[in-house]
Amino acid sequence: MPAPLMDTYAPPPLRFERGEGVRLFDKDGKSYLDFIAGIAVTSLGHSNPKLIAALKSQADKLWHLSNMFQVPGQKELAERFVATTFADRVFFTNSGTEAVECALKTARRHHFVNGAPERQTIVSFSGAFHGRSYGAINAGGNPKYLEGFGPAMGGFVQIPFADHEAAKNAVDETTAAVIIEPVQGEGGVRAVPDACLRGLRELCDERGALLIYDEVQCGAGRTGKLFAHQWVAGAEPDLMAVAKGIGGGFPMGACLATENAAKGMVVGTHGSTFGGNALAMAVGLAVMEELEKPELMDHVNKVANHLRQGLHGVADRHADVVEDVRGKGLLLGLKLKPALVNAKVRDAARDRGLLIGVAGENVARLAPPLVVTSDDASKAIEILDDSLAAAKAEMEATA
Ligand SMILES: *Cc1c(COP(=O)(O)O)cnc(C)c1O
Repeated sequence: MPAPLMDTYAPPPLRFERGEGVRLFDKDGKSYLDFIAGIAVTSLGHSNPKLIAALKSQADKLWHLSNMFQVPGQKELAERFVATTFADRVFFTNSGTEAVECALKTARRHHFVNGAPERQTIVSFSGAFHGRSYGAINAGGNPKYLEGFGPAMGGFVQIPFADHEAAKNAVDETTAAVIIEPVQGEGGVRAVPDACLRGLRELCDERGALLIYDEVQCGAGRTGKLFAHQWVAGAEPDLMAVAKGIGGGFPMGACLATENAAKGMVVGTHGSTFGGNALAMAVGLAVMEELEKPELMDHVNKVANHLRQGLHGVADRHADVVEDVRGKGLLLGLKLKPALVNAKVRDAARDRGLLIGVAGENVARLAPPLVVTSDDASKAIEILDDSLAAAKAEMEATA
């Protein structure tokens, strides 16, 4: 009999049964340090008592209405996003892909109602990842994710990462929007230099294009501010896609917009059956309540510095295989030299009780829950040291 699941994923033969904070436990009770957090999703740790309470309390009252009716929690959570960001308007989704899709549609629609329907092109950057819908794979531009899915869509242009000259050439009177992750996740954990975000903001203003940030991975407190671009003065977007960490493990996302950017999104232009469902809103409100606490952001910044220093130590001790340390806040990566494949390091770490991820450009990716402690980080560094040594030894033995 063939396997019942499609072959799109290849998980290791581990069976996690339960999680607590930064730890996961398998069915034999073996514990693992979770430094990938469901890909930057379980921002407040596993089994967070406040999130459990919010979900259970809502589950006893009302699960789902659809957007035919006013959904409890939607206005309150939208108000939280408006109060803490550049945004005036919010559309709730179930995922990051849908949040990106909404941002792209909102941008084109803005120009359409503005009397400039010819402004359709979306400009994105090499190494980008924006999700897996048709719109998102075309914006992401990764040939691996486009292959076999029919013709590439028109209206998308990709330029080199952090190349302002290329941006100046690409953004013109046919551009609807520029989309960028302030810190690239999937593409290799690369932080965009502050000057680039400011430069893009100026360029978009000058040329009449909208600026979209994809903070699906780098947002939700991960860099030590509520959203990563908030480190950079004078670089606010017109639209922003968020998801992953803002749900703390409950599937939810949102497209945030200024009043001006959202002006085309009138009744009937967009929709979602589940988006902004009552369970998601209850959890989302509980997550935001925590993320808005300055103590939590101080904690993130403190532990992130400790972890980054630790990674620099690892890079020094294994300079033969590590090229550099990348990322921002608690979204960090070790870029490995070509001789050592990132997946080998990930697997060696897993064998030693540390869960990490991989990313493009041969990067080993770390994205622990924001509640991770400096002790957890020190432990992770120790395991990484051992894992790199083991992966190197294995590589040499098979060479
Ligand atoms: C994960 C991710 C997405 C897609 O989110 P899904 O919830 O998987 O649809 C989009 N953009 C970025 C930057 C991401 O990291």
